[in-house]
Amino acid sequence: MILDLMMQNQLKRKEFLKLALLANLGLIAKPLEGFSGHFSTYSPAPSNDNVTFFKKGDAEYELLRKGFNKRIEKFPQIIALCKNTAGVAEAVKYAAQNNLPVAVKSGGHCMEGFSCNDGGMVINLSLLNKIGWIDSNNIKAGPGCTLSNIYDEVLPKKKILPGGSCAGVGIGGLTLGGGYGLLGRKFGLTCDSLYEVTMVDGQGNIQNSVNDKDLLWACKGGGNGNFGVITEMKFRLSKAPASLTSYRFKSYKVDTKKVKAVLQKWFEVTPGLPTGCFSAFVLNRSTIYILLTNADKHNAEVQKVIDALSAVSEKTTKTKPQPITTALKVFYGRREPLYFKNASAGLYKQFADIETCIDKVIDTVIATPGMIYQVNTLGGNIQNAAFEKESCFPHRAYTYFSELQTYWEQPKQEVRSLEKFQEVQMMFINNGIKTQYRNYPDIKFTNWQEMYYGANYTRLQQLKNKYDPANLIRHDQSIKA
Ligand SMILES: Cc1cc2nc3c(=O)[nH]c(=O)nc-3n(C[C@H](O)[C@H](O)[C@H](O)COP(=O)(O)OP(=O)(O)OC[C@H]3O[C@@H](n4cnc5c(N)ncnc54)[C@H](O)[C@@H]3O)c2cc1C
Repeated sequence: MILDLMMQNQLKRKEFLKLALLANLGLIAKPLEGFSGHFSTYSPAPSNDNVTFFKKGDAEYELLRKGFNKRIEKFPQIIALCKNTAGVAEAVKYAAQNNLPVAVKSGGHCMEGFSCNDGGMVINLSLLNKIGWIDSNNIKAGPGCTLSNIYDEVLPKKKILPGGSCAGVGIGGLTLGGGYGLLGRKFGLTCDSLYEVTMVDGQGNIQNSVNDKDLLWACKGGGNGNFGVITEMKFRLSKAPASLTSYRFKSYKVDTKKVKAVLQKWFEVTPGLPTGCFSAFVLNRSTIYILLTNADKHNAEVQKVIDALSAVSEKTTKTKPQPITTALKVFYGRREPLYFKNASAGLYKQFADIETCIDKVIDTVIATPGMIYQVNTLGGNIQNAAFEKESCFPHRAYTYFSELQTYWEQPKQEVRSLEKFQEVQMMFINNGIKTQYRNYPDIKFTNWQEMYYGANYTRLQQLKNKYDPANLIRHDQSIKA
């Protein structure tokens, strides 16, 4: 979703309005597994200085319940707005006593709504949004900080935490699932900068990763709503690049043959990019956009890629090197909720991984209003051996991450949009794509355990057994004890 601002501006309103038909819908979410759903058993918990409880009908309930994706509507029985770690512990104990499944919400940007539930408790961490300096290279941050909170704090001090692009994403969910972005090839994933976590486990006990290295390992790619509620994260910062230069390569009214040729060229040349560079290939109906950013000095290797991409594109534009503080803002994206589905569409090593299905994928994207297919570069320091050893993010050998997106304006357009979306996902899966990024989940993935976590799933289950044996903290794709 790194280019969603760019895309939202390009996806003309008219195009949405032209969207065809379809059946009336409304997402009827089923209660979580194991939840009895007897609302009458609920007796309001006393609020105090650490936590305030809200229920349906309270003025704040609606605001605290909603996430970034307007497609997903869930109604918890109780929302615990926590002010500190002690408040989270009280909320978890209350949920355990009352047999309420717990969903954890930091920034509310989960693409499948795993940070909310029906009939359970949502622990809302939006007030845990403070940032403190440990020393000039390290910070501690509450999971409720948004990416823009972090950038606003550290960039003026010429430091950076390599995060994603969109301003409103919570540092909690982003880091616990991995976290890739424009500077990932230079500094690693967001989780690679994490060195300590405080967590309230599924029994309401406060844990710290200094006492359990496995817990830190699990929180680097496998910690989203699985074993406990992370209430504080410590990060090592990197020296911020002074500036960022970006290039855009566009082609209009393309057909499948042209898209395939440009995509193939993009795969051919991007391995030559230095680690300071990031690139994304984006197909939005019949328009191709390629973004290339460089956080380091221009050199011959970068120029070679620019020349190759210019040669296959209709239009090339370059922005002057912008100070990093303003350059990142260009990719901040929209803050207000949208109707959309966005999910991982596979991690790849090369064009050959998708060669046999890509014609059909491109045909469908070109023919489907609101649909976007995007491939992003990984690689560089994401493949650093030390980072790999210390984290459970299992996909470092893959140098590309692709995502499928579809946007619509009216709820009635949802059914058709989701059908087409699923059609494309099945093209990839039937073509043998088996690896997916946990931070872009798809509720339709059947073998998600292996897709998200690979061989690390069993080790993650051991952590689940240790910290949340009763499976209090859960969502539709959480680690099973
Ligand atoms: C507009 C947009 C742009 C995005 N851009 C990028 C990008 O550039 N790079 C990238 O890597 N990803 C990106 N993502 C994906 C993003 O990383 C995930 O959606 C992430 O999980 C969101 O975190 P959150 O805290 O905002 O979400 P939430 O919905 O609050 O949480 C997401 C998941 O993490 C769990 N969780 C959250 N906080 C905690 C906690 N404190 N303790 C335990 N579990 C917790 C939740 O239970 C849920 O499963 C983007 C998503 C959107 C919607």
